[in-house]
Amino acid sequence: MNLSMFKDLKALSGSPYCCICYALEGPDGTLLIDSGDGSIYFGFQPTVTILTHNHCDHTQGVEKKWKNVFIHKHDFEKTNFSYIPDKVTELPFDKLKWGNWELEIIHSPGHTKGSICLYDRNRKVLFSGDTLFNNGKSRTDLGGCDDLLSCSLNKIKKLEIEHLFPGHNY
Ligand SMILES: [Zn+2]
Repeated sequence: MNLSMFKDLKALSGSPYCCICYALEGPDGTLLIDSGDGSIYFGFQPTVTILTHNHCDHTQGVEKKWKNVFIHKHDFEKTNFSYIPDKVTELPFDKLKWGNWELEIIHSPGHTKGSICLYDRNRKVLFSGDTLFNNGKSRTDLGGCDDLLSCSLNKIKKLEIEHLFPGHNY
């Protein structure tokens, strides 16, 4: 994973179970993709936080004072692996411009019902959450659905991707 070509992008991680979080800088502050499991010290307050899905290793790091924390509408269901922070609300947009980032939200159910990826068409970057890892695999063993996932992967395969930034380094 090579983030160095994007000066406005940082990756953060914590415990061995923690997901990788991505901090995207823009004139209005930081857009954070995923919050980790609570083991990361952020030292800043994100302006907007988008959670790629409701699993605790991605959502438990949301801090009480954070505002504008969003998740896809299909990921409010509680499961064995979910943790849905109190203040999280339904993702209200399907596109977001953040500084030089132009992100499209792609609903990619399978890993969970409300999993999303975020895609920047110009930069050919996909933030894939747990929908797709760098080894080309995904996982549905945490309450997911194989059929939904294969539809989502077919959708993602049509995108031009040069940089895949997933939720874990598998
Ligand atoms: Zn997950």
